[in-house]
Amino acid sequence: MPGTEIDVVIVGAGVVGLAAAARLARPDNTVVVLERHERHGLETSSRNSEVMHAGLYYPAGSLKARLCVEGRRRLCELGARGAVFTRRTGKLLAACAPEETPKLEALRAQGLANGMEGLELLGRRDAAARAPGVRAEAGLWVPETGIIDTEELMRHYLLKAQAAGAIFLWNSELTAVERAQGRYRLSVQGQDEAVAARCVINAAGLHADRVARLAGIDVAAAGYGLHWFKGEYFSLRRPLPISCLVYPVPAAHSLGIHLAVDRQGRQRFGPSAFPVDNLDYDVDAGHRAAFHEAVSRYLPDVGIEDLAPAMSGIRPKLSDDGSFRDFVIAEESRRGLPGWINLVGIESPGLTASPAIAERIADLLEWPS
Ligand SMILES: Cc1cc2nc3c(=O)[nH]c(=O)nc-3n(C[C@H](O)[C@H](O)[C@H](O)COP(=O)(O)OP(=O)(O)OC[C@H]3O[C@@H](n4cnc5c(N)ncnc54)[C@H](O)[C@@H]3O)c2cc1C
Repeated sequence: MPGTEIDVVIVGAGVVGLAAAARLARPDNTVVVLERHERHGLETSSRNSEVMHAGLYYPAGSLKARLCVEGRRRLCELGARGAVFTRRTGKLLAACAPEETPKLEALRAQGLANGMEGLELLGRRDAAARAPGVRAEAGLWVPETGIIDTEELMRHYLLKAQAAGAIFLWNSELTAVERAQGRYRLSVQGQDEAVAARCVINAAGLHADRVARLAGIDVAAAGYGLHWFKGEYFSLRRPLPISCLVYPVPAAHSLGIHLAVDRQGRQRFGPSAFPVDNLDYDVDAGHRAAFHEAVSRYLPDVGIEDLAPAMSGIRPKLSDDGSFRDFVIAEESRRGLPGWINLVGIESPGLTASPAIAERIADLLEWPS
């Protein structure tokens, strides 16, 4: 591989890098994926709620809104073809106090602006009928939300990319970038010779700001600096008779501690949101009481002893004060880096949006379909 001239190098084999590889790989092009771990998806892409978001929360016209809606549509198609497990569970947003109900109306209006269908405002009794055991002043029913098997999705992208000729280099961390003779010369840990590439996709997730810095970008001036926010999950020891997802009204840094369910029907609550400066994924059992407090607002019968520490993930956020920041998906010719695409701040709904993000990358590179 070293010494070979490559059309596209993708840095990072999370769900977004894999989706990009599946979209860009073609027999007549060389696509190489550099991944610092020994396999794909060991960071954020395997540490999330596995929810296919409907697209309710994001300002109309934002990349998050548009790519979420388009990504979900594409994921549902994969599900319908049997390529990947998906299930349309629907979700109930529960307003637990009278002052929260106007937020449901605002979210409904936002959802309608984003093209959502079937949104329904519910009274107390109908909310409880959708999700037995839920206590809410009012609810918003979002029928288009669902779940997906993320590992299966990543394997689908991986196999599709490999079948089209993409090469995956595991244990291959990008450590330096030089620009010479119209190419990017990429140094990879453990390899003596640099890899030369015409285009580079920075899909490095939590490290996307560092990779942008390697390319010579002033990350602070560009507004690409990332803040890591950890989210913990607690699983439920005693299953609840609820088949949909249940969310509170959203909090500042997250969508709130919600009830999620996976393909096997296992239920868990999460994620919380607090800033961290390292990749420690341990769950602090001492956070159980705070979880219980958050959950019992809408599910009062869940006892603290029903909650067991489960897993965690870390969000790459562009804002540390809870304000909205859109995904950065930027071709960097204006910074003197033609063919270099930065994907920064790909937090939720990045999983849902992954196939649409890949399509956007193809558009930016004017890549054939
Ligand atoms: C708690 C939590 C819950 C979430 N829930 C949802 C949800 O329900 N629905 C949804 O749509 N989204 C959700 N998300 C968001 C979603 O998980 C992410 O948007 C998505 O996984 C991002 O994928 P990625 O490929 O960009 O990043 P990652 O999965 O982090 O992949 C980046 C890869 O780059 C590699 N890398 C980094 N630096 C280098 C380097 N220098 N050289 C080589 N490789 C490198 C890393 O090892 C990693 O494998 C959630 C996120 C969190 C944290």
